[in-house]
Amino acid sequence: MAGEFGVLALQGDFAAHAAAFRDAGAPAREVRRVAELPGLAGIMIPGGESTTLLNLMRDEPWFDALRAFHARGGVVAGTCAGAILLAREVRPVQPSLGLLDAVIERNAWGRQVDSFEATVESEALGGPLEAVFIRAPRFRALFPEVEVLARHAGEPVLVRQGRVVAATFHPELTRSRALHRYLIRLADGDARAPVSEATSRRGATARQARSSTSSALACRTSSRRSRIQG
Ligand code: GLN
Repeated sequence: MAGEFGVLALQGDFAAHAAAFRDAGAPAREVRRVAELPGLAGIMIPGGESTTLLNLMRDEPWFDALRAFHARGGVVAGTCAGAILLAREVRPVQPSLGLLDAVIERNAWGRQVDSFEATVESEALGGPLEAVFIRAPRFRALFPEVEVLARHAGEPVLVRQGRVVAATFHPELTRSRALHRYLIRLADGDARAPVSEATSRRGATARQARSSTSSALACRTSSRRSRIQG
């Protein structure tokens, strides 16, 4: 039985993330108070507007609570504005949790292409993944501890550092549940095997077969799949 996921429900597309976790097989609930964090396997910080999120997070000690949640072993994920909140350094400068050793720049794809869809390759998630980018940020630097899980046009768009996962796009706005399945497995202590829709439907035998096929895919992503720390 998968552990329960919370979705920070202060602003942004939290409802779509909660539905995506349920589709992917984990119970999920919206989280509006820091007191609701204990007991969760993971928390998703959704896309939206990071400045608005920061303002709303002033009402309660969210930074302390989320850092403590991570330190106690919880999975902490962020998409788009959520990824901005996770990074160590944000450009232009704004406060952030600093749980991901990365430099991220807001609204960095330029005005003419500030929203677009793309198929990104992700060996770690079992193959191609639909991705929706909406006024998306770009990673400008990743420290060595950060593993790239997917790239778009050669750039990292999905990364992981231990139990912290950040995507610059909106996975919840597509039909693929690969990222949510990956997070569920990360919380279970096993994110090494690919987690495509097909593998989770067909079960363990197919999963093994798929593992060898996926290594033959032309991927521009890191193939490093280290054991989860802690
Ligand atoms: N541009 C937004 C920000 O800077 C993020 C956009 C999004 O989450 N879709 O916070």
